[in-house]
Amino acid sequence: MLDIIPIHAFQDNYIWTLHNRQHAAVVDPGDAAPVRAHLDAHRLKLAAILCTHHHGDHVGGVRELAQVYNVPVYGPQLENISCVSHPVAEGDVIAIAELNIRLDVLDIPGHTRGHVAYLGMGAVFCGDTLFGCGCGRLFEGTMAQLHHSLQRLASLPDDTRVYCAHEYTEANIRFALACEPGNAQLKKRQAEARTLRAAGLPTLPSSIALEKATNPFLRCTEQEVIQNAGREAGLELASGNEMTVFTALREWRNRFS
Ligand SMILES: [Zn+2]
Repeated sequence: MLDIIPIHAFQDNYIWTLHNRQHAAVVDPGDAAPVRAHLDAHRLKLAAILCTHHHGDHVGGVRELAQVYNVPVYGPQLENISCVSHPVAEGDVIAIAELNIRLDVLDIPGHTRGHVAYLGMGAVFCGDTLFGCGCGRLFEGTMAQLHHSLQRLASLPDDTRVYCAHEYTEANIRFALACEPGNAQLKKRQAEARTLRAAGLPTLPSSIALEKATNPFLRCTEQEVIQNAGREAGLELASGNEMTVFTALREWRNRFS
């Protein structure tokens, strides 16, 4: 039986850790110290390191962990991450024998040029591309790439569990409510997120179904989203121009606080 648990790092990063009580794999270890402490405390042997993209808060601990544990490091082939032993891209399958799992690699560029996701066991590790009720900033890719990557994730089965790399859900829900104040499921999600956070628990994983029902970046064809994004952008937006709506939303989110 495989468990997936978060190791907390920095302000709001989650280093998702897959383990079977004996071996473990970590996704996006931005800091080695909390990972080493967790592995030691639970007597777990590290079997693999997976990186979704090159940002420091995701790869800062890779060198130390790779040296100490001497394990394979998977990371996007298009990005320059030191210590990656297995560059990966769309279509690749990673087998981690110690955990008896296989993960598919998806290319989901936009936040960064080579950003990848890892998909398997009904779970997707999507780094900084899809967040709980939001999406990552556009740093290196194009708006069309980011939109396409999010659509790609949205097309996964509804019950796919979504493991994002940051706890941003509550702030994202505030923005989502500005986009879609009439969305009852969104209000319910806000109440649930508040309860979880008040208890010190993560709001993640979410699910593809929940994101499709509440995440404005996956709801660019909803009338209320189109109207509010248009008002903010000072544009007359029409349904049917999803990219324009998506772009207006992403730009509005950048200045929303
Ligand atoms: Zn990032």
